[in-house]
Amino acid sequence: MDKYVLVTGGTGYIGSHTAVALLEAGYQIVIIDNLNNSSKEVLSRIEEITGTTPPFVQADLRDTDTVHEVFEKYSVTSVMHFAGHKAVGESVENPSMYYANNIGSTLSLIEAMQAAEIFTLIFSSSATVYSSTALSPFKEETEKDPINPYGMTKYLIEQRLTDLIKTHADWRIGLLRYFNPLGAHPTGRLGETSIGTPNNLMPYLMQVASGKLPKLKIFGDDYDTPDGTCIRDYIHVADLAKGHLAALQFLKGRTGAHAWNLGTGKGTSVLELVETVEKVIGYPINREITSRREGDVIEAIADPSKAYAELLWRAELTIDDMCKDSWNWQQQNPDGYSSTR
Ligand code: NAD
Ligand code: UDP
Repeated sequence: MDKYVLVTGGTGYIGSHTAVALLEAGYQIVIIDNLNNSSKEVLSRIEEITGTTPPFVQADLRDTDTVHEVFEKYSVTSVMHFAGHKAVGESVENPSMYYANNIGSTLSLIEAMQAAEIFTLIFSSSATVYSSTALSPFKEETEKDPINPYGMTKYLIEQRLTDLIKTHADWRIGLLRYFNPLGAHPTGRLGETSIGTPNNLMPYLMQVASGKLPKLKIFGDDYDTPDGTCIRDYIHVADLAKGHLAALQFLKGRTGAHAWNLGTGKGTSVLELVETVEKVIGYPINREITSRREGDVIEAIADPSKAYAELLWRAELTIDDMCKDSWNWQQQNPDGYSSTR
């Protein structure tokens, strides 16, 4: 058993679910997060679910000395690196912030890991690394050509991490390319929060469903798909979390850099997702069809067969589960982690 796993960005949406999965599997963890996009309340929620409050260090990963101190204090043997900015639109408006934070924090983390001789790293990459003109389903070797600064930071970090193998043969790197994460912890105590009006489909849908926003805009119904709306591969955050544990297990036996798609392999259209939410909540969603959103690809679906072959991991939860758990979270936490119950 590992001594400690460092979870960077562990109070965020995917990091917190993975923190719970690690604790439930018997790992010891320490979290570093600067709380730039998350709340300390997450630590109490993790404690409620697992009975353990993991040690937490509020710090920016670019503070290399602090990261190094955490490695020494907790005898860390592996790192799951979730920390970073993640909003595509914001990255187009402010690319410098994305390059500085996502790349800067990863370079700092690598430096601290090398100094502490920790060589196992699992990185949160994204389907945005693939070319927007590539045809689904995407395999790991599908052409890469990110079209926005956020995706470019993920691509460049993947290159930098892959290069590490050339300088030290002990590196064990997992590049996990997530498709579209949805859902929440089944208890409703952990979930996704948005600061301001959400941009992504599910958080927006949840706010329309709960009456916080008046109407969902469906960005185009004239695409070349069965119902005219875009298709994505939505994956439950709990399945993603399990994928990280499977990757960590795999890396115990292998060095090198390994990329895996984490998706379901199934496509769901915008309208199908809206209709599933309507079924879960029991009433219609106020919606209108508007023009296409710039930069949207028609279809993005994973071929997750490599993850199954190598990690024995596959997504198990359905679109129904994702919608039910997102709605449970929304109802219990209408104002995210600042809600009281
Ligand atoms: P999130 O914003 O909820 O979590 C990221 C966490 O990192 C936040 O708690 C934030 O405070 C922290 N953070 C950011 N910069 C930091 C820094 N310099 N130092 C310390 N902490 C810092 O995001 P998430 O949805 O949980 O995403 C986790 C990772 O997965 C990100 O790297 C994201 O790019 C990637 N990813 C997310 C999605 C998605 O749709 N949610 C899809 C593909 C990939
Ligand atoms: N979408 C939409 N209305 C919204 C938000 C998103 O119709 O208010 C559509 C969007 O055009 C895309 C799909 O929902 O086809 C998923 O969008 P999201 O932003 O959640 O994920 P991404 O585009 O990053 O895959």
